[in-house]
Amino acid sequence: MVHRRKFIQVSAWGSLGLFFNKQAVGSNINEALKGQPVVISTWDAGLEANKAAWEILGKGGRALDAVEKGVMVTEASRNCCVGLGANPDRDGFVTLDACIMDEFSNCGSVAFLERIKHPVSVARKVMEKTPHVMLVGAGAQQFALAEGFPLEEQKLSPEAEASYQEWLLKSEYRPPVINVENKGHGPFAPARLSNGEWNHDTIGMVAMDTKGNLSGSCTTSGAGFKMRGRVGDSPIIGAGLFVDNEVGACTATGQGEDVIRVAGSHSVVELMRQGLPPEAACKKVIERIVKIKKEKAKNIQVGFLALNKKGIAGAYAIHPGFKYALKNGQQEILMEAKSYFAE
Ligand code: ASP
Repeated sequence: MVHRRKFIQVSAWGSLGLFFNKQAVGSNINEALKGQPVVISTWDAGLEANKAAWEILGKGGRALDAVEKGVMVTEASRNCCVGLGANPDRDGFVTLDACIMDEFSNCGSVAFLERIKHPVSVARKVMEKTPHVMLVGAGAQQFALAEGFPLEEQKLSPEAEASYQEWLLKSEYRPPVINVENKGHGPFAPARLSNGEWNHDTIGMVAMDTKGNLSGSCTTSGAGFKMRGRVGDSPIIGAGLFVDNEVGACTATGQGEDVIRVAGSHSVVELMRQGLPPEAACKKVIERIVKIKKEKAKNIQVGFLALNKKGIAGAYAIHPGFKYALKNGQQEILMEAKSYFAE
């Protein structure tokens, strides 16, 4: 097993240029910047989403507002796996899952939501305006409409329509695994862009504000061509996202079923509570999944991304290729997480 961590893309300014040295690996960066506001998010799309979150964090705003605004950027963009532009389920419908959690352990979630552009904002309304944590399906949509969210057209994006037509040729239901040999062309996989880079899938975001408060959000269309009604880990508090303002926060991406079975994000936060740094905590839970899945772990991807109360970030995945974006007052970077299996 070979572990590696590398900078994928870096832009920065000021005296922290020294951190671009390849020897200055992620943990050193985080050590130097601890205690400052910071936002981290999954996959390449995190770079753009972090910028929007920083508009709030950089002005001393609340982490909760930052993590909502941040992932809304991805929800509004056309991509394979987040928002209404995403790949549909097997019946041709895009169904969305999202959740949000704040520093007081308030949380809200929506699942199997259709025709609403910003599920994360509906999740926030569930958190703030109802006595519940989670609304699903028609009930979630009904609530969203009552809250003034517009009902969007039921139409696939051109990219999703093309993927769906291609999928229909075989209509093959494959169990939700990542085909590692193909570098991730499974239903949970990030789509490969023509420039050879990997597109994002689920976006999970965690932020710490100037008061040191933590919040997180997670939003996705789930697995492309999933069974109708399938809900993954992303809207499940404790699986796709967990925030404990005394300890830290974590979000997950990848095969949701395997994140759920280990209460993934909650487990990572509990390990941080016991004193593990974020990356080590993520690694322990990845190892737990690999142990459970045995040989099958070779064909699934899961990645965890965590932030502790000191503002130190860490991530770990089953397979290479899981990237995360980090932004604070000095830097804006895209990193690749270490992984259990080497490339
Ligand atoms: N975790 C998401 C789900 O299982 C998918 C993903 O992150 O790619 O729905």
